[in-house]
Amino acid sequence: MVTVFSGKDFAKKLEQKVAQDFSVLPLEVKKLALVDILVGNDRAAQIYLDLKGLAARRVGINFWPVRLPGTVGKNDLLSLVEELNRNQGVGGIMFQLSLPKKFKAVQQGIVDKIAFGKDVDCLTSRRLAQVMLGKSSFLPATAEAVMAILEQAGAGKNRLLRKKVVVIGRSDIVGRPLAAFLKKHGALVTVCHRQTKPLSDYTQSAEIIISATGQPNLIRGGMVSSGQIIIDVGSPEGDVDFLEVKDRVSFITPVPGGVGPVTVACLLANFIRLVKRLG
Ligand code: NAD
Repeated sequence: MVTVFSGKDFAKKLEQKVAQDFSVLPLEVKKLALVDILVGNDRAAQIYLDLKGLAARRVGINFWPVRLPGTVGKNDLLSLVEELNRNQGVGGIMFQLSLPKKFKAVQQGIVDKIAFGKDVDCLTSRRLAQVMLGKSSFLPATAEAVMAILEQAGAGKNRLLRKKVVVIGRSDIVGRPLAAFLKKHGALVTVCHRQTKPLSDYTQSAEIIISATGQPNLIRGGMVSSGQIIIDVGSPEGDVDFLEVKDRVSFITPVPGGVGPVTVACLLANFIRLVKRLG
């Protein structure tokens, strides 16, 4: 029997815990803002921004969405980040990545301006280096979400020793930090990417498949085996052909309603971790 994981239900529980942690913070800490900057008009990013705002409000977190047109320049973004760094009313800063294509060469430089103590989603090189070295007290929200879901699937960090895990996608915000964390906990991790051919050579023999590519239907029924745990990070459409794969494996996350809502709750939990230190 397959377990189709309800990220929505699980996120509700996580959110309750976050709300409880938030409620006991000192008043001045509770007022701190979580700033999320969206540049351009990517539809999926807009939806995520709105979902974060709704969840933050339910918890009581002061959420500031900053929506900027794609026409802004690098210097505008740098000045904005510097201003937010100085603003003592701001506790956390993040960008909805990726920035529009014209920023490709300068994106990391802009993101790296976020003050280390306000880097709520591990976007800066400094925080990411800590994550890769296993020295950060938290992971990027998406990686936190995947780890929380694995725990629910019976493969949490204490049960990863010698587990064969295939991570598909090697971006700095999802694949890479996840693979590092899984390895740290003893999993046997293979990272696959665009040049991995054929992907099925790796997926079929894995115990856990985590796909984060943004390629709809990349994982087909013939690429999986019985007993596997499948975590689909892709959005807004999943990477996994859900109907083909679902009945062949033991645990699967749907899209929508899987990793996405859990990521939102994990981001709020990261924010509380950050601002607690200011209390
Ligand atoms: P990215 O474009 O930076 O990286 C994609 C990765 O996938 C690359 O490493 C690339 O080599 C790999 N890839 C692409 N096509 C492939 C293929 N055919 N075979 C094997 N590997 C392939 O993307 P990202 O920012 O890491 O995001 C990945 C996906 O996860 C996107 O769909 C994004 O929307 C989604 N995402 C979801 C959440 C969430 O909370 N659910 C959060 C962040 C990102």
